[in-house]
Amino acid sequence: MTTPSQQHFTPERPLRVAVIGSGPSGVFATEALLKQAEVPVQVDVFDRLPTPYGLVRYGVAPDHLTIKSVTKGFEKTLSDPRVRFLGNVEFGTDLTYDEARAHYDALIYTVGASSDRRLGIPGEDLKGSMSATEFVAWYNGHPDAAAREMVLNATGVAVVGVGNVALDVSRILVKTVEELQGSDIAAHALTALEQSPVQDVWVLGRRGPLQAKFTTKELREFGELSGADPIVKPEEIAVSEAEEAQVSDNVVKKNLEVLRDFAGRTPGGKPRRIHLRFLVSPVEILDDGQGNVGGLKVEKNRLDENGNAVGTGEYETLPVQMVLRSVGYKGVGLPGVPFDEKRGVIPNTEGRVEGRAGEYTAGWIKRGPSGVIGTNRKDAVDTVAHLIKDAQAGTLPTAGQPTRAAVDALLKSRGVDVYSFEDWQTLDAHELAQGQAQGRPRAKVVHKHEMLSHRRKEMQRAEG
Ligand code: NAP
Repeated sequence: MTTPSQQHFTPERPLRVAVIGSGPSGVFATEALLKQAEVPVQVDVFDRLPTPYGLVRYGVAPDHLTIKSVTKGFEKTLSDPRVRFLGNVEFGTDLTYDEARAHYDALIYTVGASSDRRLGIPGEDLKGSMSATEFVAWYNGHPDAAAREMVLNATGVAVVGVGNVALDVSRILVKTVEELQGSDIAAHALTALEQSPVQDVWVLGRRGPLQAKFTTKELREFGELSGADPIVKPEEIAVSEAEEAQVSDNVVKKNLEVLRDFAGRTPGGKPRRIHLRFLVSPVEILDDGQGNVGGLKVEKNRLDENGNAVGTGEYETLPVQMVLRSVGYKGVGLPGVPFDEKRGVIPNTEGRVEGRAGEYTAGWIKRGPSGVIGTNRKDAVDTVAHLIKDAQAGTLPTAGQPTRAAVDALLKSRGVDVYSFEDWQTLDAHELAQGQAQGRPRAKVVHKHEMLSHRRKEMQRAEG
């Protein structure tokens, strides 16, 4: 007896899937499609940027190179003959929703969460106030942020939030050039940071140390910096014996140990300081009179019985000229695709997009911006399991033009300059070679037009 999938999808007419977004969740979804043996597949992975890997290239801190080694496995997935990478193709314009539906039996949206949340306090739009997301994109050489003029003239910086992103941006701000040399930070950021006069960075948690979201490895790094001392006020990390006895999470326990160690240290007189503050909420970003950040007013908090921060009416002003809000990423909707504005996710049930047969989602745009890169593997595997089940049950709408050639013809007719995986591999080798020449792990090409012109030059060279 044959199952519907065997009648429907064959090696000659495989299940055609478009994955929209080539970040970790997109590649993990692709990997899961390749690993299952039930249904023959053909996958096209799209990205609006020429380069693949999304947040691994543009979000992970440039000094966390070991986290980036996950791309070794990604390379294997995107090099599989059943898979194509189509970079520099924007969903919604270069390939519309209706066109995607016409060319693929199933779509998986894995576009992550590219925007950020706001604080909703006065002064948030002053010059020098921005999201950590923007700052991260800038130092990681994201093409959208590469042209951004970043003035680093602050001696004091406030970073709002106590998640891992807050720790990343704070660490990058206080690292010495020698420390940053060993990272793949974009050259423009390295130059700007080399000249940065920053002395004090305040990392602000609105609740206590037991509620902080960062992980211990990242926190410990603050104690190992060559040019900065961590500063913690003992009274802000004080927890009662009863509260401590209730902690079951090992990360929280270890965080507390490290914070206590920092609080007990005598600062080593290093030129920069990272102040880890708790139980303080920003209430207003002050204007210096010329439209720039001139200070940050914060209110001291206490925790109520539910662990929520409650203002005490006691205020303090921090002498900062830059404020980076690091209070979480937020997803952005795709044209033609349902979107829950409030939660910043595509509404779905276990990865199946609500009300849309043959459409799926995985990663941050499915569940919100939480977890580490590896979290997205299981998340993608779960989504793909549903997709395959639906394919076997015969409930996917069948694509009208199910061939690679049809997609290529469409993109060509629109003048889309598709960046292939081979193009990326050539760029990758170039970046690594340039980096090596400079004694660095990688020298990133940041502008999209440079990525495209590099390919043109390579093609001309190959043609002799
Ligand atoms: P996050 O872990 O959710 O942390 C957000 C922080 O912002 C929390 O401390 C939160 O405090 C605070 N916050 C939210 N609204 C606030 C407000 N209005 N005022 C003051 N504080 C506010 O988010 P993230 O740091 O952006 O990280 C996103 C995900 O990426 C996380 O899962 C993270 O672990 C992961 N990541 C991992 C690494 C790594 O593994 N090295 C690096 C970077 C990111 P409350 O708890 O009080 O809401």
